[in-house]
Amino acid sequence: MREGAGAAIERIDVYGYELTYAHGDYVMSSGRTVHRLPSTVVRVTTRDGAQGFGEACPLGPTYLPAFGEGARAAIRELAPGLIGADVTSLAGVHRRMDARLAGHGYAKSALDIACWDAFGRIAGQPVAALLGGALQEDVPLYVAIPLGPADRMADFVARERAGGIRNFQLKLGADPAEDAARVAAVLAVTQDGDAVIGDANGGWRRQDAIIAAGLMAGARRFRLEQPCPTLEECLAVRRPTALPMVLDEVITDLPTLARAASLDAMDHVNLKIGRVGGLLPARLMRDAAVALGMRLTIEDSWGGDLVTASVAHLAAGTPPGALFAASFMNDWTLEHVAGYRPRSAGGRGPVPTGPGLGIEVDVAALGEPLFTVVDPG
Ligand code: MG
Repeated sequence: MREGAGAAIERIDVYGYELTYAHGDYVMSSGRTVHRLPSTVVRVTTRDGAQGFGEACPLGPTYLPAFGEGARAAIRELAPGLIGADVTSLAGVHRRMDARLAGHGYAKSALDIACWDAFGRIAGQPVAALLGGALQEDVPLYVAIPLGPADRMADFVARERAGGIRNFQLKLGADPAEDAARVAAVLAVTQDGDAVIGDANGGWRRQDAIIAAGLMAGARRFRLEQPCPTLEECLAVRRPTALPMVLDEVITDLPTLARAASLDAMDHVNLKIGRVGGLLPARLMRDAAVALGMRLTIEDSWGGDLVTASVAHLAAGTPPGALFAASFMNDWTLEHVAGYRPRSAGGRGPVPTGPGLGIEVDVAALGEPLFTVVDPG
């Protein structure tokens, strides 16, 4: 479609809402605790009146170099550059965003998702089809278990297991012996066919990570995620352990994925749409990781219905054997902007089949926009 035609963006509205964790405090290593977070929703409207929605919700200000108000400030900087952009050309949308602001992929992600949604509505196709096609109608889910006393973590796992979840990610990264006790308590309430990941979110010093990996050696259905903050430290942990290794925070773009793969640093990548700058770059990294023989967790840092829908569409195109699990964050958070859709059932997340993201946002419930950028001409 020619730029300047009906698919050109005429207006961008930016809304804010608060997202509350559904289980009290979400606790990660190094004392990072989350209860309620600002989420940002963008709506793009084209000259022909097509609309699309996207969302960005950083997991607090110390998880990644991203934070809630930062998303809003960056979108304020980016949005004027997208007036006139063709939503059916995501390459063009990203080129405009990168020409306007370096980095800040988490903010670009909200705009990217909104353009995919609008593109799908114009084309009459779900985003999964535009991304290359869905290989599965629903995807396996995992649930993260906040860092806490071993018995409380095991109880959490048992509750989620009763609801059909079979994949669990334990927040670790504290004292290695206490972390080993957490893993043992959780493994005792799981069964063959379940999977358990210990995610330190980079919180162990490398020596503690090596000790922890030694204590957890041989644990069935167990793997480690992002033990230390840097790729080099994670490599030092991986060399002496046979536990499968997942990398998350350090995989920020295709070059970091390629470098980590070339160093044989991991078997599994946790791919977060916002961390890598939206669905367009995330699809590239998903497909590269699959071609390299990796397994994938597909998700975002945090979010509600819109983030969940975008995750479902990206996960749908992952070959089932390569997809570990996705997260349906709208099960983890209480507020819903699209009627709690898509809705998980029995530990699996359905991929919406309607045009675009396939969910309908209740715009009135979002209140007045924080700001609006319109075509001055
Ligand atoms: Mg992680």
